[in-house]
Order: sequence, then C-alpha cells, then structure tokens
Amino acid sequence: MIRVHVWNEGRHEQTDPRVQAAYPEGIHGAIAAALASDDDLQVTTATQDDPGYGLSPATLDTTDVLVFWSHIAQHEFPNELVADVAQRVLNGMGLVVLHSGCISKLFTRLMGTTGMINWREADERTRLWVVAPGHPIAAGLPAYFELPHEEMYGEHFDIPPPDELVFISWFQGGEVVRSGCCFYRGAGRIFYFQPGHETYPNYRDANVGQVLRNAVKWAAPIGRPAPQRGNMPPLEPLPSHR
Ligand code: ZN
Repeated sequence: MIRVHVWNEGRHEQTDPRVQAAYPEGIHGAIAAALASDDDLQVTTATQDDPGYGLSPATLDTTDVLVFWSHIAQHEFPNELVADVAQRVLNGMGLVVLHSGCISKLFTRLMGTTGMINWREADERTRLWVVAPGHPIAAGLPAYFELPHEEMYGEHFDIPPPDELVFISWFQGGEVVRSGCCFYRGAGRIFYFQPGHETYPNYRDANVGQVLRNAVKWAAPIGRPAPQRGNMPPLEPLPSHR
C-alpha cells in the first residue's frame, strides 16, 4: 500500500459559490476519490485550517506521497513547515504539486525558481498531449485528451528544465505550457501537473484521475537505505591513508 496524503489549502471552497458548486466535497475530496479507486492507494486528506496545518509531524511520518494544492493563503503557511516538508522530499517522500501550487513556497523552494506563469480565466478548452509515451505517468492514457474548461497557463513557465516531461498542454487561446513535469530532488521525486483550477471540476475527469494515480505511484519512495555522505574510509587498503 502507498500512503497518500491529499493536502488542499481549502480556502476558495469557504467563500466562492462557484467552487462550492464544482467541488462540494472540497478539491481534496475529489482528488481523494480519484485516488481511492485504486486498491493500492491508502488515502487521507487535510486542509490548511486543520490542526498542525494538516501537515503534523505524525501525519508526515506516515506519508509516502504528498499531493499538494494551494493558491491564496501561502502567506499563512509557516516557513518552518515548508523547510520540514522540503527536507522530507529530499529524504524520499514523493510530492505531487497541482495547478497553482507552482507558486507555493514549497514548490519554489524545491525548484529554485519563481514558478510564475502567464494565466487567464476564460473557460478555455485545453488539450493535453502525451510527449513521453513510455513514461509510467502516461500509462493507460490516449495520445492526447481534452478538458472542456480550464484556466490557461502559458509559457514562459519559470521552472528549471524538467528531468522528464510527460505532458504539453495547448489552450484554445493559442498558448502552450509544459503541463506534466517530473523532477528528481535528493532521494525524492516531484511531479507537477497543471490542470485543476478551482472553478472547473476537472479532478473528476477520468483521464485526470488516471494521471493522478499514475503520478502517485511514480513518486512513491522506492525503498532503499539513505545515501551516506561525508568523510569516508577507503574500501580498499590505501598506503597513504591515515
Ligand atoms: Zn487557477
């Protein structure tokens, strides 16, 4: 079993009727439902307003992969918690960052860039192209799939060159964006996925659900001892070594 913790900021749902209509169960609820359809995934959820910001040490200690959606309340997210979660990723915890999570403190810390992007809310159709057909995150997907409405995110997207690029998205207005990006940081694996604006129920889309399940499985720790770093005695006898 892979233990997945779905973390959602959870603020839009409190105030915006459009978001309440799209996600009556909360964005985290829809993501959790998509993941829980796989018997290999054990899913918990939390929001930023939960005790310990929904990311207590006890929770993180039992998390293999963290799924992270954030947008407007990052100024309330403690820097010490950012540092803790980032270190856990470097130590091997998987991280799936969704949509506007690209500008979160956590993602930008792990990327070393701003995560900024062009954007537009105009009910646009988007088409996601699989550009790495042999990648595990593309398993079970067609050559491309479409979502009828999504917020446009367009290049330039301020991220480092992804270690593996799985999706490129086209938007009706003409822009494109690197929309499915894999990064390796330390012992950890990070996947960024663009869809998921709060007013469109795209986390209920079947193909998006497939991507989320694939991404969690790809990001899960592979299970090996922590790397050793520091002053090392030689493995073979060395005449000059003291
Ligand atoms: Zn958005």
